[in-house]
Amino acid sequence: MGSKTKFYADLMSFNSEVTGSCTLCSVRFPDEVRVRFLVDCGLFQERSNESLNKSLEFNPDSIDFVLVTHSHVDHIGRLPLLVKYGYRGPIYASNEVANHLMGPALSDCQAVIAASTAVKSVAPLYSEKDVSNVLHLTEGKDYFDEWSPHERIKVTFFQNAHVLGAVIIFVQIKYENDAINLLFTGDYNDKNSFFCARKLPERITSLPITIIEESTYGTTDSSECQPIFEERFKEVLSEYYNILLLAYSFGRTQEILYKLKCMQQSGSLPTDIPIYLDGKLGIKYTHIFPRLNISERTKDFLPENFHYVEKSARDELMSTRERKIIITSSGTGSFGPAQFYLPHFLPNKTAYVAFTGYTPRNTLGHRLQNTPDGTTLKVGGVVVTKRAKIEYFNEFSAHAKADVLVNFLKDFTNLKLVLINHGEPETKLAFAERVKREVNPKMIGILDRDYWFRVDQYGYVKSVTTKFG
Ligand SMILES: [Zn+2]
Ligand SMILES: [Zn+2]
Repeated sequence: MGSKTKFYADLMSFNSEVTGSCTLCSVRFPDEVRVRFLVDCGLFQERSNESLNKSLEFNPDSIDFVLVTHSHVDHIGRLPLLVKYGYRGPIYASNEVANHLMGPALSDCQAVIAASTAVKSVAPLYSEKDVSNVLHLTEGKDYFDEWSPHERIKVTFFQNAHVLGAVIIFVQIKYENDAINLLFTGDYNDKNSFFCARKLPERITSLPITIIEESTYGTTDSSECQPIFEERFKEVLSEYYNILLLAYSFGRTQEILYKLKCMQQSGSLPTDIPIYLDGKLGIKYTHIFPRLNISERTKDFLPENFHYVEKSARDELMSTRERKIIITSSGTGSFGPAQFYLPHFLPNKTAYVAFTGYTPRNTLGHRLQNTPDGTTLKVGGVVVTKRAKIEYFNEFSAHAKADVLVNFLKDFTNLKLVLINHGEPETKLAFAERVKREVNPKMIGILDRDYWFRVDQYGYVKSVTTKFG
């Protein structure tokens, strides 16, 4: 019996805010065997946290395997750094991520970092070779299959509608007749425009379990995100001439295209207004999308009068007086072709700009939200005065809202511990309070870079502050 106290898993997340997702789980078995694994190894994208990208908080040699929840760079963008610093173990992801999505995401991330470090005359964070080494170490797994990255650990990937290829990760750590059950939601959603995720089976929801749950929209309810885009778009068409839609390259861009197609079909968007897509990565994903696991009815998601834009054609496109809709990245406005288009749109009173996704602190999208009309600011190296109409839509979010996150937890009948992850610090706190009230799990904690949480087979033991070497 005495030895049982030594069977535990210590968990820490290195992301104190939304980006840089990386959770380290360190398991100690009663016979002193230790296993350590990572869930995600993402890039910090908040400018204030950029310096955190330069190093890893742990020794890469001490990691036995890595599990990947999905292909957003804030969840995979430091995998090449991990490999550069010596990691040679397996990286597991869904087949869609391993075979289609991780390559373009990491190559683009590497190129963006290399371009920005070149300006500052410093060495890039990692090379193309590091990216290709990551891809060699990555192994795709089917949804719903159980497999073992270690003889005492079983893993199952469940479908997650956050984005295509995303998974919820179930990890069962076994020792003799005992087990520690962990469930990582990753970034989570129950449905999206292209498919609905299946509910978790009862064999999982009835287990004594610890859930590591995201909380990006932990203070927002679904009722606050009514679909208003289509209605609003009709007004926008009559009030403004040119339209710029900022969207993440992967997922959001394709969702917006599909939305515009549906609006053309319902007659709320005239087909004589051309729709342009600019952004190498967005174009690449738009080509890949129909090959992925999406519902038949959405395979043909491109609207009429739709055109791709090459970088070399941008100036010409902006020089024509033709009315147009341009979709481009980055979704936050801080990078990519958005930096070219925004200086054209912002000073123009007849122009309309919409951010279709989450704009974290320190991004241009966030800054513009608090910038009054008539203010002069520098965007893409150009000084402009803000006059365009700017709006923000949260209905397309790939993240479940607080009520859906709470309902997700309510499905579990033997919930031992909930660890709140992936949110702005004050959102995590507020969401934790709500979970305490509405779900009432045995224990609740907030994951950040300051504390380790110790979980044993009976649930939560205590938080420990000592960092491991
Ligand atoms: Zn994500
Ligand atoms: Zn995320």
